[in-house]
Order: sequence, then C-alpha cells, then structure tokens
Amino acid sequence: MRADYGADEPYAALGEVAIEGWRRWNAAWPVRRFHETGVAFLCRAPMAPGGYEHDSYQVLTRRGHPLERLDAAAIARRFPALGNGVHVDGYWNPMGGWAESGAVVAALVAQAIARGVTVRAGVAIGGVVDDGSRVVGATIDHAIVRADLVLVCAGAWTAALVPELAGALRATGQPVFHLAPADPTSFTADRFPVFGADLARTGWYGFPLTDGVVKLANHGVGVALAPDAPAAARVVRDSDESSLRGFLAAALPALADAPIVRTRLCVYGDSADGHFWIAPHPDRPGLAIAAGGSGHAFKFAPVLGDLIADLVTGGDHPLAARFRWRPEQRAVRSEEAARFTGLA
Ligand SMILES: Cc1cc2nc3c(=O)[nH]c(=O)nc-3n(C[C@H](O)[C@H](O)[C@H](O)COP(=O)(O)OP(=O)(O)OC[C@H]3O[C@@H](n4cnc5c(N)ncnc54)[C@H](O)[C@@H]3O)c2cc1C
Repeated sequence: MRADYGADEPYAALGEVAIEGWRRWNAAWPVRRFHETGVAFLCRAPMAPGGYEHDSYQVLTRRGHPLERLDAAAIARRFPALGNGVHVDGYWNPMGGWAESGAVVAALVAQAIARGVTVRAGVAIGGVVDDGSRVVGATIDHAIVRADLVLVCAGAWTAALVPELAGALRATGQPVFHLAPADPTSFTADRFPVFGADLARTGWYGFPLTDGVVKLANHGVGVALAPDAPAAARVVRDSDESSLRGFLAAALPALADAPIVRTRLCVYGDSADGHFWIAPHPDRPGLAIAAGGSGHAFKFAPVLGDLIADLVTGGDHPLAARFRWRPEQRAVRSEEAARFTGLA
C-alpha cells in the first residue's frame, strides 16, 4: 500500500485517498487488516531526476508528506538488515504499509452480503450472453443470469470471457518467496518496514516478518502465462531463485542463506501500458470491463468501487483517459513508475 508513484501525480493522489480509505476500513473492522508500517524506498545510487525514488520524493514532499531522507548511515541505523552499504540513498514514508489481502477480500464479501448483494461463490461464469443487439447476461452452469449491465472483472482471466481483449490484456507470472530468517529480531516492522530495494531497477520488494517468515517478491517483467494455466504450472523458475539469491547476497546478506519455506508464481493481469482498463465496451452495449490491474491495483480497493461505477456508466474521472478502452495500445513497457521493465 503506497502513494509513491514516481512523477505520476494522479496515481499518488489516488493512493492518498485510498490509504485514507484503508484507515477508515481499519476503524470499522473488528481487527485491523491494514498495517501501516510505513514504506522505505531505497536505491543503490544517489537519487536522481527521472528515478522512481527521486521523483516520488519530490512529488510527495510537495504534497505535504513528512518523508525522512535516508543516506547509507541512516539506512544502517534505521533498518540494519538493509544497511550493508549497498543502498546509499532513499527515504521512508510513514504513510503506507501492507494489508492482509485474503482477509480483506473475505471481509468485503461479508460486507457486500450483509448489504444485500447476492454472491455466488465457487462457480465459474461460462460466458457473456449476447442477443445479437446487446449483452443481456452471463451463464453460470449453462443457465443465463440476466442483467442490465454485465461488468467483467475477471483479472488475468478477462480475455477468456471477452476474447477481443486477448491482445490487450495478458497474464504474467511473478515470483514470490517466503523465507525463514535465522534471527527474526532484525525483521520486525520497526526495523524492517515494507521496502522497495531499488525497485524500478531490480523489481525486488519485501515485507516485515509475519508468522516467522519474510516475504519477498519481484514487481517485474515476469513470465507470460496462458490464462488457463493450471495451478501446477504456476511455479517459480530456477532462474527466479538464482535472481533472488543474487539479490540477497548483494543487498540483504542476513537472508542470503535463509531457507525458502514457500514459493508461488502469482498472476498479474497486465495491460500493455500498465494502467487499469475500466470502461464500457465500445461495440457491445450492456458490457463493461474493470480489469488490467497490472500488479498494482489492490492498494486502490477502497476507491475502485466508486471509480468503476462512475467510469462504466459514462461518468468522468481525472484518470478516465488512462483507463479507457484502448486496443491500439501496444506499448511493451509498463508506465507504472515502480515496475522493473528490464529496460534501462
Ligand atoms: C504476487 C502479487 C503481488 C501483488 N502485490 C500488489 C501490491 O503490493 N499492491 C497492489 O496494489 N497490488 C498488488 N498486486 C496486484 C493486485 O493483486 C491486482 O491488481 C488485483 O488483485 C486485481 O484485481 P482484479 O479484481 O482486477 O482481479 P483479481 O483480483 O485477479 O480477481 C479476479 C477474480 O475473477 C475470478 N474469475 C476469473 N474468471 C472467472 C470466471 N470465468 N468465473 C468466475 N470467476 C472468475 C478469479 O478467480 C478472481 O477471483 C499483486 C498481485 C500479485 C499477483
């Protein structure tokens, strides 16, 4: 959860509103599921214009965030496990942290049901039903569920239901590792916050100790996946593990030999430019899409409902142009400032 988006101020502004929303949700829930540990974005060379950390620092400082600039000595003092001298510059932002995503989704489903939403869990939508002039519903178990508006928000699987999006939305697998540190005391949130380790240049980011493990993942190029790839195909590659070990040896030596206790290849639903895809279908009345999370949508959960409702019903929003229907978009490089694209 971060409002740190490089020079991209519209996302920063949306991130701020979303984090306020997470705080509100926390206050309303019986337990806190958003953990505002703060976020540290560190880099291996002095921050410079055009860089993710520099530009985030400038934008957020201008927007009033009380950021703490960190040099190598401050990094070593504040966050010892990250302070072996590889990271020489960066900052800490007290706004931001991490959320228990599974518990959050479960809580939101329960709230929706309590407000009268019918939720059919554990069933697959077979397809979108078109009567020749407009979309009139969707099939579940071969039965048609009729609707005035069908909103497909099937993440990385969206193109299976709306095949014309196959070239525009792609599934990519991103490696996630859970490691068990020998000495957990260096990895508690006060000494090891949510961090990005030269994020846009390495892709590596991580989280404080939870249930005895430290979670590290790569926000990067990933590997192309078939949307219907079975769970068994979603495994990290040897090259992902070598890359992780190389990163740890250089930047996080206290974890260099830590055993990996769990791995996953998580699926991003990527648009070509890394922006979300939230729009009515231009040629199929009755159908709209909210997808293209591109690995950075979860944080916006508290604002996405209203935003999607506005955009799919023809309303306006400062980000409407970005999230528009844009099959012509064929950029190979994500414009999301934090994402490692493999390109200098
Ligand atoms: C490893 C990893 C780390 C991430 N970290 C972050 C982060 O730190 N911050 C952040 O903001 N975002 C993060 N994200 C991205 C975030 O999780 C996604 O952007 C977000 O979940 C996208 O939401 P969505 O609703 O579009 O898709 P999803 O969350 O994928 O939801 C789509 C749902 O549709 C269901 N579905 C698909 N097809 C059908 C069908 N035919 N019938 C019925 N149901 C169907 C799927 O089962 C799924 O439950 C991360 C993603 C991954 C994989």
